[in-house]
Amino acid sequence: MTSANSSGRTQLKGIAAAPGQAFAPAWRWKETPLESTMPGPTGEAGADELERAVEHVKARLAVTTARLHGVGASAEAGILEAQALMLEDPALLEGARELVIQGTAADVAVAETMAPFAAMLRASPDPVFQARAADVDDVVGQVRRALLGLSDAPAMPSQPSIVVARDLAPSQTAGLDRALVVGFATEQGTATAHTAILARALGLPAVVGIPGLVDAVADGQALLLDGDEGTLLVDPPADAVRDLAGPATLAVDAEPALTRDGRRVEVGSNAANLEDAQRAAAAGADGIGLLRSEFLFLGSDQLPTEDEQVAMLEAVTAAMGTRPVILRTLDVGADKPLPALPQPSEANPALGVRGLRLQLLRRPDLLADQLRAALRVAAKHPLRLMFPMVSTVDEVRQAKAILAEAVKDVNAAAVNGPRLQVGIMIEVPAAAIGADVLAREVDFFSLGTNDLTQYLFAADRTNPELGPLADSLHPALLRMIDQVVRAARQHRRWVGVCGEMASDLWAVPLLVGLGVNELSVHPPMVARIKATIRQLSAADCAKVAVAALKLEGGEAVRQLLAQHHLEPSSLRTRTDR
Ligand code: PEP
Ligand code: MG
Repeated sequence: MTSANSSGRTQLKGIAAAPGQAFAPAWRWKETPLESTMPGPTGEAGADELERAVEHVKARLAVTTARLHGVGASAEAGILEAQALMLEDPALLEGARELVIQGTAADVAVAETMAPFAAMLRASPDPVFQARAADVDDVVGQVRRALLGLSDAPAMPSQPSIVVARDLAPSQTAGLDRALVVGFATEQGTATAHTAILARALGLPAVVGIPGLVDAVADGQALLLDGDEGTLLVDPPADAVRDLAGPATLAVDAEPALTRDGRRVEVGSNAANLEDAQRAAAAGADGIGLLRSEFLFLGSDQLPTEDEQVAMLEAVTAAMGTRPVILRTLDVGADKPLPALPQPSEANPALGVRGLRLQLLRRPDLLADQLRAALRVAAKHPLRLMFPMVSTVDEVRQAKAILAEAVKDVNAAAVNGPRLQVGIMIEVPAAAIGADVLAREVDFFSLGTNDLTQYLFAADRTNPELGPLADSLHPALLRMIDQVVRAARQHRRWVGVCGEMASDLWAVPLLVGLGVNELSVHPPMVARIKATIRQLSAADCAKVAVAALKLEGGEAVRQLLAQHHLEPSSLRTRTDR
């Protein structure tokens, strides 16, 4: 829907796909056409090339998947993993191979073989299946590009811009350079399409499904994109920019967040690399509540040396100045593969040798290296340590024994040894239930609600179909959090939340009510979460949380929050006043 206001400015209306606002010049997506002067290969040689092209695309998907796992977007990584699986379907590939041997050009054969599959999805009455057709087209396009020798690296703008496109494929969205793309708008797409899901995971404001978009916007025109309202204003007046990016939604807020009755809740930020840390610092985060150290190890087939780790950690801590950084030790294995550390495949990777288990069982030397690097950085910066995937107190003791050795190695009496805070993630139900025992061993807990929800509901977090089952507002999870906070309080330990739940505006009043001390959120959410906390009364939230614990499901909890005007839209309206 398009409307022109009295000043002749164009307001375009679409579907709100990913929250947040962005103001930047338009940059029209440059489609590299799927055309080549050379026909695709045929015959036996063509069939071999087809195989190589498929392997190439699978390898690229694996790199992007690892990047998404690195930012904690495992469900979204599952989208690309599903695309890679399509390329493993023997029926589809054999069909294409046969055609190529009989003389059809390989790029045409791939398109022809996959077309009925995409058409079947498109014809489905279920919009979720319809949206999956775009994933098939995307993967076919990638294979064809590889076969025709066309570049698969898209052109990017030269300054921070809002991308305007007819449509973006999931792999294109995952590959957007976040330093140069501050949001995007598309003509096609739906809120449930994977492109929209990826935008939400990457923290990119997005509006999709805007009819006539590409013809309505020229390169370089100023755009104001509102991913909450689903609007795009072309050449916005100055006051519209101020209104939308005004105090309530301003992305920067370095003030402490206190509830109306004076309880401080720290709002840190999650970071998966240096760029995230810089965004967190700019947003005014109180610290880094979760530094996913996997980034130190990704992107190379060599493990980083201790000195290399020190240099990278110093860059992150320097970005945060005096604000604390919680370094989570390496959390890979099984479903978070690391090229430099190949591991045997497992029947149940999510229940396998991952996180701390991997290091304790197979590579204590790696943990020791990482801890020595961390201790050296902790000499100059308030760095804290956190171990992931803890199930038992023995694991914590083993990890602490390795830490004690590392302290000796780096002569850590001089390096912040006694002041170094050591915590664990609570993301396995056994650790949540045993939190009173674990609390004796550590300084703090951080609830990894992504995994805790997965293990509590026995629902694979990478399977979008099970998303509704693993509802983080379900009283079963709330009861578990309540138990952890009580155990921590008994031992005078503090508790944070670093899973997605901390960035969920529905969950914030409940987490505050349950007594959580820190929320670690996506950098673009820092200001909004702080503004939300300031609207709350901790005492009132505690009463609502107690009532929520007794309800029968997540929907009932949402209704209860709405009855108390604690749902996101009421809170937002209040913060806007
Ligand atoms: C979690 O499980 O909630 C968490 C923060 O860790 P990750 O998403 O990296 O597994
Ligand atoms: Mg986890």
